[in-house]
Amino acid sequence: MVPADTPAPSAKAKKKPRRVNVRTPEVMERVQAEVQSHYRSSVVEKLREGGGKLTVGNTTVRLAKQFGFCYGVERAIDLAYAARRVFGDRNIYLIGEIIHNPEVNRQLREMGIQNLVGDPPDARIGELGPDDVVIVPAFGADVALMDRLDQQGCSIVDTTCGDVMKVWRRVRQYARDGFTSIIHGKAKHEETRATASRALGDDGDGQYLVVLTLDDCDYLCRYIAGGEGRDREAFLARFEGAYSPGFDPDRHLEKVGVANQTTMLKGETEEIQRRVRAAVIDRDGDAGNFQVFDTICGATQERQDALFEMLRDPPDLLLVVGGYNSSNTSHLVEIAEPKVPTFFIRGASCITSLEEIVHYDLHAENEITSDYARLFADDQPVTIGITAGASCPNNLIEETVFRVFELRGVPREELEKLRNP
Ligand code: SF4
Repeated sequence: MVPADTPAPSAKAKKKPRRVNVRTPEVMERVQAEVQSHYRSSVVEKLREGGGKLTVGNTTVRLAKQFGFCYGVERAIDLAYAARRVFGDRNIYLIGEIIHNPEVNRQLREMGIQNLVGDPPDARIGELGPDDVVIVPAFGADVALMDRLDQQGCSIVDTTCGDVMKVWRRVRQYARDGFTSIIHGKAKHEETRATASRALGDDGDGQYLVVLTLDDCDYLCRYIAGGEGRDREAFLARFEGAYSPGFDPDRHLEKVGVANQTTMLKGETEEIQRRVRAAVIDRDGDAGNFQVFDTICGATQERQDALFEMLRDPPDLLLVVGGYNSSNTSHLVEIAEPKVPTFFIRGASCITSLEEIVHYDLHAENEITSDYARLFADDQPVTIGITAGASCPNNLIEETVFRVFELRGVPREELEKLRNP
């Protein structure tokens, strides 16, 4: 546990929201050194400064121009570390995971930050009190859960990313305007669940529907435009678990506003916006009952764009590093898969040999072992591309770069020379 060398705020019982600002300059000064020591890589920074390409012998590693931690993730981690330092003597809990990266979550557990798990994490919340601190992760948490925490009088360190809150503002506005929110996202993802709870509006009578795929969207659009012959029960069965309580497709698709989980594929989100708009025009003759707001975050966009750029001159093989439950990371894999042999790995240890990689198969939704890495194995020149999602720290990228070269016969000491003195 990190020593408490900064006085903790008073722990008086209060039954009202207690958002705590732990991000004071003196705390952050101490915290940042610690965060950097856990996640920074001077080797990766050097590589970036040099254009992201390193060739040693007949092995080249190319990094995407944008990858790894985004501003929202950096802020969330800073706040979690700051909370530990400020509340050194208190129990600190985290709702689920701070971000979708096992290494970062492991570090927080080692610092004594306990996970509130469960869906929702009800069991332990009833036991929490004013002395307890709860960290809300970068994707936010749903309204009901936040209300429970407030009722318990906990101190709350809220790391919700500003880009996520922008989406919340938009879906709340849809509810005020009497529009149903059509949310492009994963219905079970923490961020989408948090957004969906805001789509219920201030009075709780707003409506939402979550669509994930273009097939979902087309089904929805046929229903919107379809008039007679629509099968309400089939619609509700298809989208079970992805709509608001009381949602009725015959009543609640009259006025629709599209929003999205911040980390979706931008092209797909735009296509969903276009198709829903077309369906409304098809039905009404104009787009008066349609609203849209593009809520893909800038960091997600930059990482996707950088990968598209890399794929214009594709490497022989691409490694995408990140947590398997990371939405933005899995979209990077989806972008690359049609163009280049792509492996979604948690870290360097997944590259078990020159011939074999343990990686996550998005289609099988499982970790599998593949021998396709034989591309590594011959003496021919090879170029390995590396990118990572917004929740992946640079130290994991560094380890991956080292592992690639190591397997190709380049000693670690050779690369250590890249480190800043
Ligand atoms: S991926 Fe985007 S929305 Fe998510 S934390 Fe990063 S900046 Fe915020």
